Amino acid sequence: MPPNNIAVRTRFAPSPTGYLHVGGARTALFSWAFARHFGGTFVLRIEDTDLERSTPEAVQAILDGMSWLGLQHDEGPFYQMKRMDRYREVLAKMLADGTAYHCYSSQEEVEAMRERQRAAGEKPRYDGTWRPDANKVLPAVPADRQPVIRFKNPLEGDVSWLDVVKGEIAINNRELDDLVIARPDGTPTYNFCVAVDDWDMQITHVIRGDDHVNNTPRQINILNALGASLPHYGHVPMILGTDGQKLSKRRDAVSVMDYLDKGYLPEALLNYLARLGWSHGDDEIFSMEQMCSWFDLTHLSSSPAQFNPEKLAWINNHYIKAADNQMLSNLVRPQLQALGAQFENAPDLAAVIALMKERVNTTIELAQAAMLFYRQPDASAELRLQHITAAVTPALLDYAEACKTIEWSKAALSQMLKEVLAKHALKMPQLAMPLRLLLTGQLQTPSIDAVVELFGRDVVMQRLAKVSA
Ligand code: GLU
Repeated sequence: MPPNNIAVRTRFAPSPTGYLHVGGARTALFSWAFARHFGGTFVLRIEDTDLERSTPEAVQAILDGMSWLGLQHDEGPFYQMKRMDRYREVLAKMLADGTAYHCYSSQEEVEAMRERQRAAGEKPRYDGTWRPDANKVLPAVPADRQPVIRFKNPLEGDVSWLDVVKGEIAINNRELDDLVIARPDGTPTYNFCVAVDDWDMQITHVIRGDDHVNNTPRQINILNALGASLPHYGHVPMILGTDGQKLSKRRDAVSVMDYLDKGYLPEALLNYLARLGWSHGDDEIFSMEQMCSWFDLTHLSSSPAQFNPEKLAWINNHYIKAADNQMLSNLVRPQLQALGAQFENAPDLAAVIALMKERVNTTIELAQAAMLFYRQPDASAELRLQHITAAVTPALLDYAEACKTIEWSKAALSQMLKEVLAKHALKMPQLAMPLRLLLTGQLQTPSIDAVVELFGRDVVMQRLAKVSA
């Protein structure tokens, strides 16, 4: 959908009530990529007017999550709580223009009104008692009562928009109430703030979760009343968990930062989220640069996407394999430290990572695998008895002897191992397994020559010295 020569402006507008949710991160990614695609502007707006649920920690969690993912905003963060003067100004203008009105109906009266409507089988709504229509005489203003401000919603016609994801959507105005846009204490309400912000921030494309579809006609009506031009709207279906239900905090890892803790790389998570509800042909692995060059709001799916942890792990494995070993070392070192790694006389971490990263899905697994090189071997007596037998001991001694002087390269070590095997008429596993046990304490390792080379001559000789004739 080419935006007709307009400067694209998108926004991500989270409510800071917890952490950055993967669903939120995905709509942020779509908004960001779309802005990047057209060289536009991506705005970050913090919707913090729900004072009971918003916390500074949650704001920080959102900023941290966005920055970890590299979803850099161009403007903001704007905080709604800092825009109260502006909302009051717009409320005053709407009252003056007659697009909003004071309503003195009490909470109890509104409740009673709704009860009556429900009893009569009607849809509960405000009955318009204080709506100032032509030739209507309003009731006397009750003393000692602070009014709310209601939006004067159009009575007739449809509110419709061509949703970028869902296609044409039309809602009849009769379905919509005269929305309360300011509470008795004067504080503005949610849909009003969003409409004013989208207007002021000149947002051209609102991409958000489809849990907001019901808010859109209300926001459109407010924007129309303000004489604002309307943004395009795209409502992305939610992400389902592996069980086909809505992603749940209890069952699924839903916080973006959980993935950092679990050893995922941000580029892997982004690549994975990009494919949840959007596609570019059969491409599964692509960089954010590629995504930005492709992402024009077409090929968004209108049905919910299902979260697939195995696929995310597969993508993470891809990015770990492709990642710079030094960068991975910086990530893995603290994890190794937490596992009690001993770095003295131990191989270089970047070299260990180069050897171990092929088969791991997370940097946590990478740290666990790398521990092979950073702990004392501790094979069970049973395993030792089983593998370090009298039959192989002479070969192990020969191997240890040759290690003293051999040129320390994988090729030379490999050649030497073959010669020892031939001399003692042994098969590879008969010598490789005891060597693995002696050097690492375990039987599963990468190729023995690579392991021996990485440990280095001193450590190898020291550990093989434990074999006695
Ligand atoms: N603050 C809303 C939320 O976190 C999003 C509002 C919007 O995108 O319009 O769900």
